[in-house]
Amino acid sequence: MATSDSEVDVVIVGGGFAGVTAARELSARGRRAVLVEARDRLGGRTYTKDHDGHPMEFGGTWVHPLQPHVWSEIDRYDVETETFPVLEGLRQAVVSDGRVVDLSDDDAARALEAFDAFCAPGTTLFPEPFSETLGPDPDGLGDRSLREQLATFKAEPELRDWVEAMCCLTAFGPLDQSGVTEVFRAYALAGHSAEQFAASLSATKLVKGTRELIDSIAGQATLADIRLSSPVRRVIQTDGGVRVELESGEAVSAPTGLIALPMNVLNSVEFEPGLSEIKRTASADRHAGAGMKCFVRVKGDIGNLSIVAPEAQAVNFLVTYDHGPEGSWLIVFSANPKKLQMTKFDDVQGLQTALQPLLPGVEVESIVGWDWSNDPLALGTWCIYRPGQLAKVLPDLRTTEGRLFFAGSDSASTWRGFIDGAIESGYRSARDIDSYLTS
Ligand SMILES: Cc1cc2nc3c(=O)[nH]c(=O)nc-3n(C[C@H](O)[C@H](O)[C@H](O)COP(=O)(O)OP(=O)(O)OC[C@H]3O[C@@H](n4cnc5c(N)ncnc54)[C@H](O)[C@@H]3O)c2cc1C
Repeated sequence: MATSDSEVDVVIVGGGFAGVTAARELSARGRRAVLVEARDRLGGRTYTKDHDGHPMEFGGTWVHPLQPHVWSEIDRYDVETETFPVLEGLRQAVVSDGRVVDLSDDDAARALEAFDAFCAPGTTLFPEPFSETLGPDPDGLGDRSLREQLATFKAEPELRDWVEAMCCLTAFGPLDQSGVTEVFRAYALAGHSAEQFAASLSATKLVKGTRELIDSIAGQATLADIRLSSPVRRVIQTDGGVRVELESGEAVSAPTGLIALPMNVLNSVEFEPGLSEIKRTASADRHAGAGMKCFVRVKGDIGNLSIVAPEAQAVNFLVTYDHGPEGSWLIVFSANPKKLQMTKFDDVQGLQTALQPLLPGVEVESIVGWDWSNDPLALGTWCIYRPGQLAKVLPDLRTTEGRLFFAGSDSASTWRGFIDGAIESGYRSARDIDSYLTS
């Protein structure tokens, strides 16, 4: 069965922040869209799930005022934000040389200074981070991995391990597969400040979850027909338009198409004619973001704490989500889940073992979350380019091919890999499609 709505201007494939923002922006321009999303919900790699009385974020969570696109959306819909983790009584520590070392406020300040020193070589690479123009790269940083860069970095052991843990948290993938440019870029976007960099990674979240924000944006996509549970199988371009075929056998046609899929899943849709070689290669190689984030229920009151650990550890970050005498919830991040040696995503015993170096004696009761790397609609977490990928794939990933436009956080100009980048790409693609249809 085919939808032959001659009024439709664009078919949008993918209902994450990029696709949904584009749908709203097109509506504002009087353009009609059909948005097809494979899941039974919007939000993609953001996913607010109610569990044990909490709106838990299984995917994207933190936002920051230095991220202009997402912050303006928060303001526009009057979405309530909160500081998280709660700073009052927060115990901070780093695992170094197999020991948990508590950090005083002075130690934490020295750790930030060490991170400034680590990022100093990248300062010239991103002189104007919001303009995307790359600076000179005489030392070949563009091809260097985080692991290689860390090998050149000298500091006291605890500070070095703290810096390495921050690299694990930013990359959320193995450090030898993650480009050093990715940390340097985010650092530059945060005003070349380690303090603001750390804050943009994890200091402010939405009280009711990202779900409230995406629902607000979707609510104003008034001219868009949003169809959930509609996985796309094939996208065909003809001289007169774009035909999007669904797994169900239905098809939607329009003069233009917007592909708002994760870079890693581009190849799981069939395109006729095929996409550019760079897009296909990027999707086959994938970006390096492949970590695991989960919420972990543990026995007893563990207090308010934030502990980071370098790559030698299977767990690289844990932070208290909620605590009380009846038990506590932790948010746990592993940049390299293979090290966890968990037999399945909710393997309580496996995670309990992995947590011991950070929280000796901790007893895990249950685990909830989402296995993004094995989710066929994501095949990874947030976008962290591999060494060399930045220059090779970024411009092409969002280059229009015939009547097909491309959006997504994975190819954003500025806060790539963040919710902000997805929204930015939604603005841009809607503008481009509108101009194309007008011309
Ligand atoms: C664990 C985790 C933690 C994160 N933490 C943060 C954070 O704290 N702050 C932050 O800013 N960002 C964070 N991010 C990154 C952020 O969530 C993403 O960069 C952003 O949400 C991506 O939006 P998008 O619209 O580009 O892509 P997506 O959200 O991936 O949207 C793409 C959509 O396409 C759909 N799709 C896939 N295949 C098909 C198909 N064949 N047919 C139809 N639809 C299809 C998918 O279901 C999905 O809904 C995190 C991500 C993860 C995974």
